Formats: sequence, structure tokens, C-alpha cells
Amino acid sequence: MKSFVLCYLLVLILLTLSSCANDQKVNVVLIIIDTLNADHLGCYDYCRDTSPAIDSLAASGILFRNCQAQAPWTLPGMASIFTGLTERSHRCSHYDGFSHGLDPEMPTLTTILKEQGYSTAALVNVGYLGEPFGITKGNDYFWYNDDGSDNADITVNALLEYFSSNEVPKPFFTVIHLFDPHLPYDPPSPFNTLFKHSGTNGITEWPEIELCFDPVLIEHMTAMYDSEIRWTDSQLSKLFSGMREMGLADNTLFILIADHGEEFMQHGDWGHAHNLYQQALHIPLILTGPGIEPGTVVSENVGQYDVLPTVLKYLEMAVPDHVEGINILGEIPETRVIPSSGVIADTASAACLQGSKKVLWFVEPDSSETFNLEDDPGEMNLLPVDSLLLEEVMNYWAWPCICTPTENEEAIIEMRRLEGLGYIR
Ligand SMILES: [Zn+2]
Repeated sequence: MKSFVLCYLLVLILLTLSSCANDQKVNVVLIIIDTLNADHLGCYDYCRDTSPAIDSLAASGILFRNCQAQAPWTLPGMASIFTGLTERSHRCSHYDGFSHGLDPEMPTLTTILKEQGYSTAALVNVGYLGEPFGITKGNDYFWYNDDGSDNADITVNALLEYFSSNEVPKPFFTVIHLFDPHLPYDPPSPFNTLFKHSGTNGITEWPEIELCFDPVLIEHMTAMYDSEIRWTDSQLSKLFSGMREMGLADNTLFILIADHGEEFMQHGDWGHAHNLYQQALHIPLILTGPGIEPGTVVSENVGQYDVLPTVLKYLEMAVPDHVEGINILGEIPETRVIPSSGVIADTASAACLQGSKKVLWFVEPDSSETFNLEDDPGEMNLLPVDSLLLEEVMNYWAWPCICTPTENEEAIIEMRRLEGLGYIR
């Protein structure tokens, strides 16, 4: 009888210790804002006050000034965030006439953290993050909306409700994806008049391309996009204060990133997915959490594919060998080359960034452009071809895919539906 009581007490102590250990593990919240170009945020020196909450988040942690998307549109960019791979390696992207889903065998940040004992949840607002494409697999709780324009408030409320009404086991890994800065640009009142340009009242979508070069229209569309960002930022403010009130913010690593940026006719087109200029590739990346020095700014080049290895290293977990990104909380080699690819709307192309040098290569017809982003951030002044970096781009393009992307019927049907909604054009 005595040994039974001792055993019982021992089990009780072990259970308590294990529960304390889990409580002490750092939680992770990954915030993905769709279609968010870093250059439109206050903390990236934008002229408008679009992002007070995001600016505060940046001030409390690390801001990466030069984060490059691995692709200029949603599906491959998201796949790079969740797998730590480049677009050529995961090929969860658009080619051969349709969009391919992620290799079902490929581990993601969610599946790895779930295996490590994290409770997992995702609240997402776009079809590419739905089940057919496989990027958001492995969640204990999944909240999904296939067209989340102006849903930032609903999504943030749903997440706060999830946190408050459930006994969410710790540690937790939660993904929240907000779609609002994506077209159409129609933020709710009073945000819709914050930066509004006169003369084009009511326009939230671009007209046919010949009419899009009007400077008044471009100014108006930019102002409406900025208003969408401010609206989204206001909802993030609500999320952060709600989490603080519930005592969930202190022991949590927050990561804020985007899947791609947005163009405003700088290179002859609007939206994204058309080319690999910086308007579509320069995205924000902010990390804040226990042990991270507030007010840190990092200027070395980083990418979406660095998120997975950085989070795993931060949590003192092993990074799978196949991962191509690096831990950017450690040393970042100045000479590293950051690749991007995955254009769907125009000719296939790839790009590499090394330091401030950038080379774009258009596959057919074969041509290239070289820029120095330090002197020419708008990529307007062509330089003589940098043949070494061009070779890097071509090598990257020939990179073997290490996955077996899915070609399932569901993904194809979903892609056709998204085409119908205008997400692919
Ligand atoms: Zn997107």
C-alpha cells in the first residue's frame, strides 16, 4: 500500500513538472498579412502613418530591413514560409497550366511543431491556404474563409474568441492570415477616407490597363491600399491588446511577414504575380519575443524561407537537412544569394539578390536586367550585366525540385475557382 502511494505521488509530481515545462515553452504566433509591401509601412520609413501597431511590434523586437519574397504571389510565397524552401525546390506553384499543391510528405512549420508537442491553430482567409493545397495541414483548430476581403476584424475576433473560450494547451503555435490589403481596396469607414485622393471617389478596382497610367488614378489606388493597411493595423492592435489582457503575450514569439508585395504601375502593371521587381518582392519581417533585443534593425538580406529554420533554432529544435533557409537570429553571410521565381502572369523569370546587386533573368526570350538597389531602389537604371550573378540565377532556375507536388483534382478545381474570382490573371 505504501509503495502504491509513493508511486502515485511520483506520477503526480512528474505530471506537474511536465505541465510546468510545457507552460514555460515559448508560444509562437505567426502573422501573415497578404499583399503587404514593406515600403508602405511606417517602420520602413513610409511617408504615411499606415502602421502604428506594426511599428510598435518592430520597436519591441527585430526588424529585418531587406526581406525578399521567394515568389511574387500567394501560393509559392506561403509554401516557402511554411517549408523553408525556395519556389524551385517546393514547386507548390503554377506551371503546366495549373497550380500545384504542396508535397503531402513535406514537413511544415505546423507539422514539426505539432510533433514537438505544440497545439496548432490557423485562421486563414484565402483559398490557397485551404486544404487542397496542403500548406496549412496539421492544425488542431482550423478557421477558413476562401475570400477574406475586409475580414480582418472578423478574423481577429475569431482568434481572440478561440483563445478565450478554449483551454488552448500550451505551448501553442497559431497562424493568423489577414487578406485585407489585397484588391479590391475598399476598407470600412472611417479608414476609407484617411488618405483618400479626390477625383476618383468610389473606385476600388483598376480599370483596363490602358487607363491605368493616369497619375491621379495611381495616387488614388495607392491611397486606398494604404488605408487598407491602416485598417488591418488597427485590428492587429486589438489582437495584441487582447492577448496581453489574457496574459498570452509575454511568453510568445511573434513573427510578422507577408506573402508578397504590390505594384502600382511602377513597371507597367498593377497588383502582383507579373514580375520580380521589388514592389512585388520587398516584404516586411519582424520578430519579437523573449530574449530578443528590442529596437534591433538588421540590414542583411533575408527571405521568407528563413522563417522555419529561425523559429526552430529559437525554440532549440533541430532543423531538417533539406531546409534551404538559415537561422537569421545567427550570423547572416553578407555574400548570401537570395533567389525568387514563380511568375504566373507573364514570361517565366527568376531573380537573385546579393548585397545590393540584383539580376532578373527572363527565360523566354532569354534576356536579363542588372540593378544596384542601393543607388536605384526603383530598378529604373539598367547596369551592365553582372555575369556571375546571372549565372547564379540560371543555376537556381535549373535547381532540381526536391518534392512531389500534388496535381490533385481538388487543387485544380480550386485554382479554376480562384481564377474566376480574379486572383489569377
Ligand atoms: Zn497573396
